[in-house]
Amino acid sequence: MSNIKQSVKHFKQAQQIIPGGVNSPVRAFKGVGGTPRFFDHAKGAYVTDVDGNTYIDYVGSWGPMILGHAHDAVIKGIQETAEKGVSFGAPCVLEIDLAQTVIDMVPSIDVVRFVSSGSEATMSALRLARGFTGRDKILKFDGGYHGHADGLLVKAGSGAATFGEPDSAGVPADYAKLTLTAPFQDLAEVKRLFAENKGEIACIIVEPIPGNTGVLDLYSNGFLQALRELCTAEGALLIFDEVMCGFRVSSGGAQKLFNITPDLTCLGKIIGGGLPVGAYGGREDIMRKISPDGPVYQAGTLSGNPLAMRAGLETLSRLQDDAFYADLEVKSKRLFEGLLAGCKAAGVPATGNRFGSMFTIFFTELEQITCGSDVSKHCDLPFFGKFFNEMLNEGIYLAPSQYEATFVSAAHSDEDINNTIAAAARVLTKLTA
Ligand SMILES: *Cc1c(COP(=O)(O)O)cnc(C)c1O
Repeated sequence: MSNIKQSVKHFKQAQQIIPGGVNSPVRAFKGVGGTPRFFDHAKGAYVTDVDGNTYIDYVGSWGPMILGHAHDAVIKGIQETAEKGVSFGAPCVLEIDLAQTVIDMVPSIDVVRFVSSGSEATMSALRLARGFTGRDKILKFDGGYHGHADGLLVKAGSGAATFGEPDSAGVPADYAKLTLTAPFQDLAEVKRLFAENKGEIACIIVEPIPGNTGVLDLYSNGFLQALRELCTAEGALLIFDEVMCGFRVSSGGAQKLFNITPDLTCLGKIIGGGLPVGAYGGREDIMRKISPDGPVYQAGTLSGNPLAMRAGLETLSRLQDDAFYADLEVKSKRLFEGLLAGCKAAGVPATGNRFGSMFTIFFTELEQITCGSDVSKHCDLPFFGKFFNEMLNEGIYLAPSQYEATFVSAAHSDEDINNTIAAAARVLTKLTA
């Protein structure tokens, strides 16, 4: 067991003055037990805590760090930009540069608006969908997470699921009523909801690759394509929440990988290269409804912030070429298969889903995990907790919940991958001894 005295001390201090000692719930390790590590610094594939322990990191700040931590060009870009002033509250050229980059990369985006987080992107996209269609209801899926806006905290996946609170206190029931939910993969239920609420559903919002209830596959059996057709037939908008999978699974996100065109797309995480950025964009006729072009209001003091725009630009400019993703694919596949092989060798029942450099290994007897309730009902969550903590002792930092994704970055070396597979084999053998 490594020395974690300083983390323990800081966690106690933090708990006295910050709810749960954290500024975002999943960081608190509630799903796995143990003390969250306080990090001091990070570089490439590694994070180092305040006690001086270094870990191979597969959380990557929950997705943004696809180039690895503290990438030289990103840091230099931020420094240069900061010298010129950190916020203007007036237009700057970097906003145009990042907007054009996003439009060039993401197939369905013709016009884009920047905000400061993924949550802000989704809540703004919903308002726009409602404003554009003149309809009030929205449809999301059980276990789909789209940020913490009121109407979206209904059956909302990882954070809430980890704590067994499917809904948040403080969300008015009247408000939640406008949010219809269906299980992933259940097209019949989606159709039934459209029939029952004829002409009232503004949009479907979906993570095209769900990552907040563990990584799921909605593509192979045609579910996503069916949602596209249904939305078109019903006059509803299809919103892809690509906050996690955008720029993660291909240079144009899941929509490019699957060749499906949503009406609106929400982005976050990688788009800011580790600084707070979100964005929503799509078809021009829809996007022109946003103020000041149109009647749908949305604003932000720090939106389009120059530091954030520059960090995003430096990151996205390194994701343009297919070789980048091909390389990431090879490494991620090797890690994913190596971990599953380790489970098999140790006699631990497991399965997994993977798209490029995002995956989840589920500890379960099921052959395939296809929806959110599969995770809560059929995964061995206590075993995950033990595995997580043993891996931490081995110097491997995984997401502290079975409901989350593992992220591989360009900075992970073959040796890091080998070491991780070897550590997992030791841990799994130990846990089954
Ligand atoms: C992380 C995430 C969000 C929320 O983004 P924040 O920047 O945390 O507000 C929304 N949707 C998805 C799919 C996410 O993974």
